[in-house]
Amino acid sequence: MSKSDVDVVVVGAGFSGMYLLHELRKHGFSSRVLESGSDVGGTWYWNRYPGARCDISTTDYQFTWDPELHEQWTWSEKHAAQPEILRYAQFVAKKHDLYSGIDFDTRVEGAVWNDADKTWSITTSTGETITSRFYVMATGCLSVPKDPDLPGTENFRGDVYVTGRWPHHDVDFTGKRVAVIGTGSSGIQSIPLIAEQADQLVVFQRTPNFSIPALNGPAPQYRVDRLKANRAEYEAEARLSGAGVPMPMPTVSALAVSREEAFAMLEDAWNMGELQAPGTVFMDAGTSREANEVICEFMRMKIREVVKDPIVAELLSPYGHAYGTKRPCMDTNYFQTFNRDNVRLVDLRANPISTITETGIDFGSESLEFDAIVYATGFDAMTGAIVSVDITGKDGLTLKKKWENGPLTYLGLTTVGFPNLFMITGPGSPSVLSNMMVSIEQHVDWIRDTLVSMRDSGFEAIEPTPTAEEGWRVHCGDCADITIFQETNSWYMGANVPGKPRVLLPYIGGVGRYRTACDEVAKRSFLGFELSGSGKKQVNDGIIRQVQPDVDMVLEMMGSLGLPSMDSMSPADARAFSDASSAMRPPGPNVGEMIDGVLPGAGGAELEYRLYRPATPGPHPIVVYFHGGGWVIGSHVSDDPLCRELCNQADTVIVSVNYRHAPEHRFPAAADDGYAALQWVAENAESLGGRADKIAVAGWSAGANIAAVAALLARDNGGPTVSGQLLLTPVTDGSRQHGSHHDNAEGYILTKSLMEWFWNHYADAQDRMSPKASPLLAESHAGLPPAMIVTCQFDPLRDEGNAYAEALRAAGVPVEHLVARGHIHTSIPMVDALPSSVPPRRAMAAALRGFFG
Ligand code: FAD
Ligand code: NAP
Repeated sequence: MSKSDVDVVVVGAGFSGMYLLHELRKHGFSSRVLESGSDVGGTWYWNRYPGARCDISTTDYQFTWDPELHEQWTWSEKHAAQPEILRYAQFVAKKHDLYSGIDFDTRVEGAVWNDADKTWSITTSTGETITSRFYVMATGCLSVPKDPDLPGTENFRGDVYVTGRWPHHDVDFTGKRVAVIGTGSSGIQSIPLIAEQADQLVVFQRTPNFSIPALNGPAPQYRVDRLKANRAEYEAEARLSGAGVPMPMPTVSALAVSREEAFAMLEDAWNMGELQAPGTVFMDAGTSREANEVICEFMRMKIREVVKDPIVAELLSPYGHAYGTKRPCMDTNYFQTFNRDNVRLVDLRANPISTITETGIDFGSESLEFDAIVYATGFDAMTGAIVSVDITGKDGLTLKKKWENGPLTYLGLTTVGFPNLFMITGPGSPSVLSNMMVSIEQHVDWIRDTLVSMRDSGFEAIEPTPTAEEGWRVHCGDCADITIFQETNSWYMGANVPGKPRVLLPYIGGVGRYRTACDEVAKRSFLGFELSGSGKKQVNDGIIRQVQPDVDMVLEMMGSLGLPSMDSMSPADARAFSDASSAMRPPGPNVGEMIDGVLPGAGGAELEYRLYRPATPGPHPIVVYFHGGGWVIGSHVSDDPLCRELCNQADTVIVSVNYRHAPEHRFPAAADDGYAALQWVAENAESLGGRADKIAVAGWSAGANIAAVAALLARDNGGPTVSGQLLLTPVTDGSRQHGSHHDNAEGYILTKSLMEWFWNHYADAQDRMSPKASPLLAESHAGLPPAMIVTCQFDPLRDEGNAYAEALRAAGVPVEHLVARGHIHTSIPMVDALPSSVPPRRAMAAALRGFFG
């Protein structure tokens, strides 16, 4: 093992560094904690501005790792003020003798990885160089105030204050003319108190913010009661919650209730005085702009109720961003402050600051003089403190360079090229989207357990693999993509700092889901990490989360219901089960018209159909559609939401056909019905309001099998002419095993055994060799209509669809092949339920339009 001064250097002595120091000592690691401030507390050491408080209830915003603290420390309020939180940090530090392990007034300036001896060399502002095996940035997400990006800041001769670097002495604004620039949480907390002292206060607002009343006072009784009844259970719930505080899971859409009902629900949340309450009333607050607008309207109504001057009320009302996509604020009398005679609001969007002068601020066409300017302009969040240290990893790569287009991490904890470097609440972890205490403790626990595990197994270095890091980046992006957070210029997105790359910095998949992923990584022998040391190496390459996050939630929910598998049922029961599930899904969009009818199938069979017509004037192209359900279940209405959406988006008539089902009607009934329906639609196109020269076939799963077979039969039997075939996760080959049958055999709703069950009902072994059952086995695919084939990554049928795309392409058929990453067999047709399935369906509709020119 290499020689180093200490096992671990920790940068920062806020709550993160404090807890880590305690755990390192407890587990026998030597350490140095280096802190640029003069005391512990971090955030609560630096942010001493008037009104600074936590906005998560103290029942939740406190350490859980020392149960004695709950007896030894009593919070005076729900939202404790900064001095009390700082005293708490000091109390904990004294109780656990943490002061002796921390070097204060010591800024870490640089860190260099020495690959030969697997150590970090850390240089400090005191001129010292320390070598350590591990290097942990516990530097805080909101610890580096943003550089003032206003012209002339250096000119001002009066008093200058920055909320995040507030002086340690009392600041008295009595009799002063004060400007506050910024209306985020810090501005909103400090403005009411500054207004009470100052002679005149001018608030310079660029973006109005949502804020709810803190209703400070004793801690919420219901939380106190729950903690008293069963603290362990409460804390476990917090750790597996969405944002680190136990909250009920919303189940109602804001769009499914009347405005009156919605406002009544929001009123209840408002009266709770809890930061997370309004955002967790509706299940779609973070995913639907329209749903979110209901909350925004409610919040604006509240502002109008308080602020007497309607023009000022309007200026204070946020319109440009959805609620929650900028960090919501909690206040005490913020909006009421604008009813005071000594307070003025300046709207910087209409009257931008041209310069700060020696005596005041020039903005719009005005010039105002001030005695003091308070910058409440925020932080270089999440990455600022990390990259402000010159960190050089392997092969001379600097972290600043690596992150120049945005931070790349594995789990928000580690980054490729920088072995043995850990970040606490780093970018790519839930961090600032959570009760930070829960996130801090989870990271410290994970790092501690990792170091212990490495020591036990004789490893010296740990580094994520590029595959794992890229996989995590993609997963973070997938989580962000199904929300509306990326639409807003917020500090979450890095948008507050000029030139900072725009990327949603925290992980938005939730605290509980994140914790589960981290635990799984460790349990699966450090999946996605390379471990080395003592002459050995372990590379467990891989990606921890690949299924789309909303699909994953569906899988989880279905798993928790413990439903029986359909292959254990009779066909009649499976059909009833499927119908009951379909009755619970969103219906899909309205279309111009829906007509139910009957058409002739093969051999005189009567087949029901449903015709969907767009609201636009016809005649339209026609798509003959075949539903999914393994030839056994489903009907002409079972894919209703998908048909409605395709009808609207592709501007086409859809005729969905109820072909005959197995086992009552085995192969080739369904295939023959498919072709018969296509012929009938072509012959009757005009009376259906469509165009006989523009007919395509489409289907999902077994329905896509029927569509593909209908296209084959049309080619081989002299028509009708088919303009295109849209095949969603098609069955193409019942004759043999494909890799995906094995890879995705279990766990993704359509299982290998269910597929077998379908096939057994539909066709015997010999029939499966027929191209009418397995179109992949057709002698030739030449001359088939252009195709769009959609396959899903986690579908047992994936490789059958892939093979069909290949075969068509090889035969010269134009093919658009969309591989739906992270999707399962059943996820694409889930209209209005899975945001991640929207883009593939859009592509499908575009393909249909493309078939028809
Ligand atoms: P910090 O408390 O920021 O500590 C990091 C420490 O690292 C600092 O002391 C800093 O001086 C030191 N440091 C940084 N770089 C270096 C370096 N190069 N060398 C040496 N030392 C360095 N979160 C909530 O969950 N609920 C709340 O109610 C809440 N309220 C907040 C209010 C304010 C005003 C602010 C700014 C943040 C708030 N937060 C809140 C977020 C808060 O930052 C975290 O809750 C938590 O305190 C962070 O602890 P930390 O130890 O990770 O980081
Ligand atoms: P912030 O939310 O980033 O707010 C900064 C404010 O300054 C914004 O209104 C911003 O306007 C404005 N601003 C920035 N640069 C400006 C410029 N050049 N000209 C004019 N206006 C400018 O920062 P913060 O208020 O310090 O809060 C940061 C985070 O810390 C919070 O979101 C929260 O997580 C935490 N915090 C929590 C509490 C609490 O209640 N517990 C209190 C304080 C802080 P734009 O919006 O237009 O950029």
